[in-house]
Amino acid sequence: MSDTTINEQIKKLIALQEIDREIYEIRQQLKENPIYLNEMKQNFEDKKADLNELEEKLKKMQVARKTLEGDLQAQEELIAKANAQLSQIKTNKEYTAKLTEIESIKADKSRSEEKILESYDDADIVKESMSKEKEVLTEEEKKYNEQKKKVDASITTLENRIKELEGQRVSIAPEVEKEILGRYEKILVNKEGLALVPVKGSACGGCYMNVPAQIINEIKMSNKIVYCEICARILYLEEDSQ
Ligand SMILES: [Zn+2]
Repeated sequence: MSDTTINEQIKKLIALQEIDREIYEIRQQLKENPIYLNEMKQNFEDKKADLNELEEKLKKMQVARKTLEGDLQAQEELIAKANAQLSQIKTNKEYTAKLTEIESIKADKSRSEEKILESYDDADIVKESMSKEKEVLTEEEKKYNEQKKKVDASITTLENRIKELEGQRVSIAPEVEKEILGRYEKILVNKEGLALVPVKGSACGGCYMNVPAQIINEIKMSNKIVYCEICARILYLEEDSQ
């Protein structure tokens, strides 16, 4: 392979690497966006679950109150019945006993009434928490939807950019020798989208380790593809390829 050929190949690889780097970075962004959205959605779902729990609690309280109200009604009926019986009682002793019985039912009745009032107070507290939760939830939902819209729009833009880059890639890649392209693409996958790097000073532009003078000489000779001994990326000298 002649000097020009290797230099030409490196030039093509530089153009390819620029495209591939951008494709890699966009793919990373595309991976991160849904993670971020999912976190937001999870947060939102958690709040919804909290609200459902409060709703369940309120329902249980309402059922318990129905029972208390049933008790109260039964107690009122007992009192009315006992009062009606009073007029038919003949002896003082029986009369006193009936009065005592009425007093006792009245005491039960007033306990029921108290519990019912307490239950209304407790329900008010739960209702207040619910309305606060609902407000938070509405706000979270709004934020999530706005964010999702932004993310969806950005995903479309990024995907279109990838298509554009892939189109450019298709026109350059066939100009690189099959074997070189194969090795380049393998490194690309293994080295996070960076297969071709310039030597900067005497350091590899990929792993920043020292590149020995002998290797730099090999690159200058331009008769083969030279790899970093440490990270195995393809090396080139910036001034040579410009
Ligand atoms: Zn290296």
